[in-house]
Amino acid sequence: MRRNFLNRLFIFFLSLLWVFPAFAQTFPPLYEVKQGEVIFLTLPSKQNVPLLKGQFLGKKITLDPLNESGKFGALIGVDLNETPANHLLTDAESQETLAMVHILPNEFGRQEVKVPPKFVNPSRRQLDRIKKEGQEIHALLRPVSEERYWRGNFIIPVTGTPMGTFGLRRVFNGEPRNPHSGEDFAAPEKTPVYAPNDGVVAGVVDHFFSGKGIIIDHGRGLFTEYFHLFKTKVKKGQKIKKGEEIGLVGKTGRATGPHLHWGMVINGAKVNPLSVVHLKLE
Ligand SMILES: [Zn+2]
Repeated sequence: MRRNFLNRLFIFFLSLLWVFPAFAQTFPPLYEVKQGEVIFLTLPSKQNVPLLKGQFLGKKITLDPLNESGKFGALIGVDLNETPANHLLTDAESQETLAMVHILPNEFGRQEVKVPPKFVNPSRRQLDRIKKEGQEIHALLRPVSEERYWRGNFIIPVTGTPMGTFGLRRVFNGEPRNPHSGEDFAAPEKTPVYAPNDGVVAGVVDHFFSGKGIIIDHGRGLFTEYFHLFKTKVKKGQKIKKGEEIGLVGKTGRATGPHLHWGMVINGAKVNPLSVVHLKLE
């Protein structure tokens, strides 16, 4: 009940800002974002500052100067498991509030999947391999580059049908497993996969669950993942441009048929990559 009241108070506050824009100018901007989604947070430029360093949900966020508008901006992702609540983006040095972010609940469905038994109850040897590979992926996604490689809008990396599988609570052969942290695209085997934006190849892997895969670092803690590939066509450390071919769709690893698993991680938060494609970026 109390939570409900606080939410209503917050919404009332939001509507005040909408009715009285002059009033709003004295307050930091307000953003709304659902669990597992991304916002492009922009702030007015400040003179004599090359970039803005902020803090959000315990993570450091860098806001880069944007060419066209003269503002500062950063992509901010909210993990699919983040608790809905109101949070502040603060200046890392002065602690001043730069923006308010209202995290809203998202609805994720359930999915029953049938796969070969080894993918549900792996042997001890396979478990060792899975653990090592999990640590490898975790390490690849951790570094936050001092540079923003991505520029402008993100494009969808494959010609295929999005299956709406992001965030699904999955049950493999009747046994519950982790929620699905990417979006799957149904596409015939050997369909080309393209880089959705500029970046650097952080890693090329061949793992038990994800099969042949690629991880791209787009800078400032933003990574994209491409799994179950038939073939990878890039090398670790290689610089890539938006639209460049990086691999071919396949069904390697734990896959029921040919498809592309496209994942996105921003400062450790697993987000729906399709929520970035819809944003107008600069
Ligand atoms: Zn998937």
